[in-house]
Amino acid sequence: MTANEIRQKYIDFFASKGHTPVPSAPMVIKNDPTLMFTNAGMNQFKDIFLGNSTPKFRRATDSQKCLRVSGKHNDLEAVGHDGRHHTMFEMLGNWSFGDYFKTEAIDWAWELLTEVYKIDKSKLYATVFEGSAEDGTELDTEAREAWKKHMPEDHILLGNKHDNFWEMGDTGPCGPCSEIHIDLRTDEEIAKKPGAELVNTDNDQVIEIWNLVFMQYNRMADGHLESLPAKNIDTGMGFERLCMVLQGKTSNYDTDVFSGLISELEKLSGHKYHSGEDVDVAMRVCADHIRAIAFSIADGQLPSNVKAGYVIRRILRRAVRYGYTFLGFNEPFLCRLIDRLAEDMGGAYPELVAQKKLIESVIREEEMAFLRTLDRGIRMLDDNMAKNADTKVIPGVDAFVLYDTYGFPIDLTELIATEKGYTVDLEGFNAELQKQKERARNATSNEFGDWTEYHSGEDVEFVGYDCTTVEEASLIKQRTVKQKNKVYYQLVFDRTPFYAEMGGQVGDTGYILSASGEKIAILNTVKENNLTIHLAERIPQDCEGAFSLHVDTERRARITCNHTATHLLDQALREILGTHVEQKGSFVGPDYFRFDFSHFSKMTDEEIVAAERRVNQLIRSDYALDEKRDATMDEAKAMGAIALFGEKYGDRVRVVKFGDSVELCGGTHAASTGRIGMFKIVSEGAVAAGVRRIEAVTGAAAEDLVYSMQDSLKAAKAFFNNAPDLTGAIQKMVAENAGYKKEIEGFMKEKVAGLAASLSQNAETVGDIRLVRFTTSLDPATVREVAALLQKEAKGFVFAGAFEYEGKPQLVLMYSADLVAAGKNAGKDIRDAAKFIMGGGGGQPGLATAGGKNPEGLKEALEKMVETALAK
Ligand code: ATP
Ligand code: MG
Repeated sequence: MTANEIRQKYIDFFASKGHTPVPSAPMVIKNDPTLMFTNAGMNQFKDIFLGNSTPKFRRATDSQKCLRVSGKHNDLEAVGHDGRHHTMFEMLGNWSFGDYFKTEAIDWAWELLTEVYKIDKSKLYATVFEGSAEDGTELDTEAREAWKKHMPEDHILLGNKHDNFWEMGDTGPCGPCSEIHIDLRTDEEIAKKPGAELVNTDNDQVIEIWNLVFMQYNRMADGHLESLPAKNIDTGMGFERLCMVLQGKTSNYDTDVFSGLISELEKLSGHKYHSGEDVDVAMRVCADHIRAIAFSIADGQLPSNVKAGYVIRRILRRAVRYGYTFLGFNEPFLCRLIDRLAEDMGGAYPELVAQKKLIESVIREEEMAFLRTLDRGIRMLDDNMAKNADTKVIPGVDAFVLYDTYGFPIDLTELIATEKGYTVDLEGFNAELQKQKERARNATSNEFGDWTEYHSGEDVEFVGYDCTTVEEASLIKQRTVKQKNKVYYQLVFDRTPFYAEMGGQVGDTGYILSASGEKIAILNTVKENNLTIHLAERIPQDCEGAFSLHVDTERRARITCNHTATHLLDQALREILGTHVEQKGSFVGPDYFRFDFSHFSKMTDEEIVAAERRVNQLIRSDYALDEKRDATMDEAKAMGAIALFGEKYGDRVRVVKFGDSVELCGGTHAASTGRIGMFKIVSEGAVAAGVRRIEAVTGAAAEDLVYSMQDSLKAAKAFFNNAPDLTGAIQKMVAENAGYKKEIEGFMKEKVAGLAASLSQNAETVGDIRLVRFTTSLDPATVREVAALLQKEAKGFVFAGAFEYEGKPQLVLMYSADLVAAGKNAGKDIRDAAKFIMGGGGGQPGLATAGGKNPEGLKEALEKMVETALAK
């Protein structure tokens, strides 16, 4: 069975058991402050498990793209070294939302593995939760009984809280789990030692493939467990591991999921897989990481210096580093794997094919930048080793600077150091790392209190598309959040006009008013697990009574105009630059907006003007907002929406239409385009390879921009006595200046020549040397030219200049060619003299200059120069 067939069989099997197949949610998470990447199949159903939204169906099945490189699940360091952990992998899952429970989950898992996939029953083991005194939970007999129907008792093992109790986070839904393990060893090995002894021992051949989680509790902030009213099933099976089992391999990398990428790497590098440990690890790392990187970019997360973008950048750099060190790549190579990846996985994940060109160029540019960094880091390391030649130890602080500022990984520093017989002060390095981590923790640590509930209700109604005030709303719940040592209060209402920060648009601000007239400012509005959270400056005195909610309407109006303008700009860019233009991100605030889009070259001035004119034309056409709030994907497409990847399945979408512009969008919009008033682009530039960014303003802000441009123009005109033709006047002045410059150069030449001639005439004669002592305050560059001229014309000649210019002491020393030939060196001699002026300098043996800090020492410096010059 090929990997693609294996995936399909899983989905088909659970569909036959009444599950609705749903697509993978994006791997990059945009609206959850607690999680940057999907790390398990359950993430996209978190709202349902938390009780914040009602499921659309009671059973679902999917294959979910996951990434485990940060936070609670971080497998990065294992990747490449074992055959079963990846950064990005697919998790096959089946879900019950308050429907079936343990017995069915276990029965179906068994049926699928042994009857559909036909895995040898004797190779399978199951673990069951043994209970925990600390939590007051008991042995999971229900799961054990279910397994007993299928397996001999010695294949059912008990596990502790660490292995067999699954939790979403510090608080929230959790419960016992039951894992399925498989023994892949040969019969001989099995005969020597039963597999039961190797389960959960980090053995590469006796491995976990599937985890069945029985969500039945809710963990509260004080640590105690409460029973969940609706019990859920959440299962996750590693797709790559399953492929390994079914294709009879002993490593995920030997399956057809990876073999294409590995053979591509062999072709590009000239190395063979299985030719040595280092090469093998490097190939596995590269084959693994390229998937994580490509899928993230396809999901809209570009590598960058912060947050999720930084995680991706680090993965990419890890791959480049392995390729550079062990596979001999010193030119971009990861980008050359994309064709193959798209071929292998494009069927199941069409976004890879659709965005291939962008993915390639982003990766290529990142690789080039990091290869330059590597180069620079290696040079810095060389310098550092030269400095520490006596101890042969690279100080931890320096290793940390390399790591932190130059992205130079510590193991690479160590590797290079070892090759040259040096060691790295790892303790010092780790201490620096620890300090940095603490700084980061303090900056981001959040503490959440438990929710206090006042009214029941779950789905919060957003009425902000139609109004900015709600006269009567009830507070559902409230909690305290400590963030960066500041305290906020999160309020959730049953209805709200406040728009929560999402899809690039900032959250609303405003205030709430209690029945007794208490007024509390709302500082921001955000979405968390599908709840609209109002960040308030304090808790109302009366939480039970009714409230009226008021959005800052003036600010909202500006945000709204900016948001509508992004749609018009999108349309204009697609008309002017071509339909390859795709939105890649945006920020919509009250004062300006940012729009990122795919396009491969800088926009010309003409294109920018064309875009401005087109958007302003669309504004003047005053298209009314035409929206459909609850459209299915098919309805949206029928209205002309450009298909967007990354929508969650089953989501009803909102279609926003202005004239020919049709987009899926949840933001707030102007009632008609005319409200925007005016549009003006502030800047256009690059964000990444193939991604451009436009910043622009609308309405009064656009007007202000035009006035400030007019002001600069007026000021400039005033300089030219309000000349009617300003450009002509400036051109004339530039031309005149060029003429003056030429003339001055001529005068200077004459001046230098005249000065040289007179100095030569008036030189002292000391023995067979003619000597000039020069002390006049003149621009040092001119003095140097005079000296150079004298050098050309005179024999047996010394020029010693010591003078002050603009408050600084200056030295110039010149020896004629014959003196240099006889062994004199001005570069060396001037350094000795420069000590008197507390300075330094150097130059050629024939001509050298120096500057310093102490004008008092000029006299002695001059004497020193004359003395050394005349010495035989
Ligand atoms: P392990 O102990 O092997 O790291 P886990 O306990 O972290 O696994 P779960 O969180 O239960 O795994 O995830 C469910 C399934 O996903 C596992 O049974 C396994 O098949 C698969 N899986 C987990 N982590 C990875 C990974 N990094 N790469 C590939 N597959 C994975
Ligand atoms: Mg794990």
